[in-house]
Amino acid sequence: MTEIDHDDAAAPGLAAIAWRVACPRCGRGPLFDGFLAVAPECRACGLSLAGHDSGDGPAVFLIFILGFLVTPAALWVGMTTAWPLWLHAVVWTVVVLGLTLGMLRPAKAAVIALQYRHRRDVSDEPL
Ligand SMILES: [Zn+2]
Repeated sequence: MTEIDHDDAAAPGLAAIAWRVACPRCGRGPLFDGFLAVAPECRACGLSLAGHDSGDGPAVFLIFILGFLVTPAALWVGMTTAWPLWLHAVVWTVVVLGLTLGMLRPAKAAVIALQYRHRRDVSDEPL
């Protein structure tokens, strides 16, 4: 078994990684090639990112978080205003799509950072 040198004390925090959508080890290199495709390796530190796949985890987190936040807001607006149904459909579609697309990259970066920290088998080893 290979000893992996994780300098966790120097690693950026989870919130910083998610906010910057950056490499989980150095926090400087971009995590993605494109919108959601994980880069093969970090351009700043050379960490192999090929083994990191967050799967459906970030989407599930967003479904729960945004459902918890948006549904009460939609119900409150529906009870306190006289918006027509078509306006609700337009507004809440835009709100949900905007929040989902805006939070998907940070959520995926956070899940990959958690994998990097806690799944040592995929952290630094090439596949
Ligand atoms: Zn890096």
